[in-house]
Amino acid sequence: MATNKLLFLPGDGIGPEVMAQVMRIIEWMAKKRGINFDVTSGLVGGASIDAHGVPLTDETLAAAMEADAVLLGAVGGPKWDNLPFDVKPERGLLGLRKEMGLFANLRPAVVFDALADASTLKHEVVAGLDIMIVRELTGGIYFGQPRGIDTLPDGTRKGYNTLVYTSPEVQRIAKVAFDLAMKRNKRVCSVDKANVLESTILWREEVEKVHKEYPGVELSHMYVDNASMQLVRNPKQFDVMVTTNMFGDILSDCAAMLTGSLGMLPSASLGAADDKGKRRAMYEPVHGSAPDIAGKDLANPLATILSFAMMLRYSFNLDQDADLVEKAVENVLNGGLRTGDIMQPGKAKVSTTVMGEAVVRELDKLV
Ligand code: NAD
Repeated sequence: MATNKLLFLPGDGIGPEVMAQVMRIIEWMAKKRGINFDVTSGLVGGASIDAHGVPLTDETLAAAMEADAVLLGAVGGPKWDNLPFDVKPERGLLGLRKEMGLFANLRPAVVFDALADASTLKHEVVAGLDIMIVRELTGGIYFGQPRGIDTLPDGTRKGYNTLVYTSPEVQRIAKVAFDLAMKRNKRVCSVDKANVLESTILWREEVEKVHKEYPGVELSHMYVDNASMQLVRNPKQFDVMVTTNMFGDILSDCAAMLTGSLGMLPSASLGAADDKGKRRAMYEPVHGSAPDIAGKDLANPLATILSFAMMLRYSFNLDQDADLVEKAVENVLNGGLRTGDIMQPGKAKVSTTVMGEAVVRELDKLV
């Protein structure tokens, strides 16, 4: 029986509570599907600061580099808010992303039928929505040099950043997007601002070069201003969207809100593939540590469970099992169970634990 090495980093606040629900599914998979995960746990963020004085220890980082995949809960909270920038809990997360070379951020925006009314957009605009935003995560204007705030001789202050992309950076993120499209509806929309930014003229040209390797995928280009309008006008026109770090930051949050709830949103961050096609990868819910509800068994565990489903699909090629987990989540929602964040009139409000148990019960019914 193959064993998959998994590093669990629950983190802070609601992190440990939502991650505990994934453990139930892991146990279920070993028992009912014969799929075994060798799970080790580590500390990250505030929990690591409390135990070791730093948000990410060398040991945890080494474990992350060795694992087949990392599942992270959330980091941060008021207890650590006043620490210096370099030792804040969030530095743990950034350190992992950087050291693991996670350059591709995958943010699906899926609207489950049962929750289509939770969006601020009309039911018919979002019902059945299933798009994937691929954001370049380690380059672009957030990292480009030179950057800074200078004071000129006449006293004028000048703030500046640099938007820079190289051809290998664009090509590797384009490949991720085309590979994803091959597993989905075979359409990629590349978002840029090639009418005014040279760096994204290069982006567009490099995406087109990579496209030649994927004749079965339809490629379109869209300026980012139009893409933001189209996302709220007719989001279902998209399958996979691929874009730069900053445009992706903004568009993925916009797309997230089409779904109506932070507690439902998974994500994946992927690194470069080795010669066997294996990538370093970290999966995490989009939400934070929700200190306002932490420790009360109130958090919605579905974003973390759906992140685990992404891990099954993208790190372990267990597409069928990923489908099972996603279907179980859908069935639980169709059955009327809701945590507080997605509560609707006439539905049953349940705890984190009850929601996790319900997903496992639905999995049992599916096999
Ligand atoms: P947050 O996502 O933690 O919470 C925002 C709101 O959404 C809160 O009202 C919270 O109760 C609710 N919420 C979030 N997740 C939920 C869930 N699963 N179920 C039910 N309700 C949920 O964002 P915030 O309040 O801005 O930040 C709190 C802390 O989390 C801060 O320290 C912040 O730095 C950190 N943070 C961490 C990450 C991460 O680890 N990736 C992301 C965002 C924020």
